[in-house]
Amino acid sequence: MNQTNQRAYNFNAGPSALPLEVLEAAQQQLVNFNNSGMSIMEMSHRSADFEAVHNGAIDRLRKLFAIPENYEILFLQGGASLQFSMIPMNFLQAGQKADYVLTGAWSEKALKEAKLFGEPVAIATTKDNNYKNIPAVSDLVFNDDAAYVHITSNNTIFGTQWKQFPETNAPLIADMSSDILSKPVDVSKFGMIYAGAQKNLGPSGVTVVIIRKDLLEKANTNIPTMLKYSTHTDNNSLYNTPPTFGIYMLGEVLKWVEAQGGLEKIEANNEAKAKLIYDAIDHSNGFYTGHATEDSRSLMNITFRVADEELEKQFLAEAKAAGFVGLNGHRSVGGCRASTYNAVPYETCKALADFMIAFQAKHS
Ligand SMILES: *Cc1c(COP(=O)(O)O)cnc(C)c1O
Repeated sequence: MNQTNQRAYNFNAGPSALPLEVLEAAQQQLVNFNNSGMSIMEMSHRSADFEAVHNGAIDRLRKLFAIPENYEILFLQGGASLQFSMIPMNFLQAGQKADYVLTGAWSEKALKEAKLFGEPVAIATTKDNNYKNIPAVSDLVFNDDAAYVHITSNNTIFGTQWKQFPETNAPLIADMSSDILSKPVDVSKFGMIYAGAQKNLGPSGVTVVIIRKDLLEKANTNIPTMLKYSTHTDNNSLYNTPPTFGIYMLGEVLKWVEAQGGLEKIEANNEAKAKLIYDAIDHSNGFYTGHATEDSRSLMNITFRVADEELEKQFLAEAKAAGFVGLNGHRSVGGCRASTYNAVPYETCKALADFMIAFQAKHS
């Protein structure tokens, strides 16, 4: 717990920490938004006040993430998980291939959905290695006739992250749920990028989809209206009632990212934060061991074990007692995980690194 502002040392994997400044701004505006006499949640999604919030968030995201004009930006619902289904539903035909690179549990789930619509192929997987690493980009061999290539840019559960993206002929589609806006990305390399908001962008309930316009023309048409991308691109994500409060919060988070100095600054902060914790692991003489191989380490989710299993339980218990939240690894992996998304302050990461070093000194 930070004693000055009473905020927990929050390392939750998702939903996760939001910037304090954003929460305070939202609190300020909660009861009476922009002198409307009501909260943003109580007004029509067709009102001028809401439309300004909605379009403001789209414009800010386009500018911050340098999204070219030939891409549409959508705010959808159903989480990243619904995108696992919508992608093959829109872009895959029966009997047609799509290439999936498996780097963790989320990519497995994405592949599973695609099997309902076509013949997706797992062209590479690091499962045998317990998803400790991302395959070398130079080793990837794509199918010439694949409808698209799907990757997971950051593996939230295993703590690995792509450092370099592959060149593909087929449209490259990336699940960036847990590292979108953590660094600059060349969006023009992708056919589509999607992300549930609850890690780096805002509260749960909004899913950001960035989609190249030419893909929409090739999409399947015999699918339910709400599950068709073109329904949402044709209506500026206002075909039905959007998650208005979530979109408002997303806009506030984007203002905060701007105020931090943009994505280069955010990336430098994220590197400095992660280094504190990775250094505590690397300088521990094996007391702590990282799960990911060094070349694949995530700057967003730091996965590690305490070498002794009894001590690991004690580490997690003492960390909890000291005010650290969310350090238990995902139930499928075990161990420890510190999620250091954009909004997790440097001093929170410093507090954890100091705690790790002190715990080791006490127990070795
Ligand atoms: C959290 C997460 C998901 C699932 O997101 P939902 O919004 O809960 O559907 C998918 N992919 C990745 C990489 C994630 O981190």
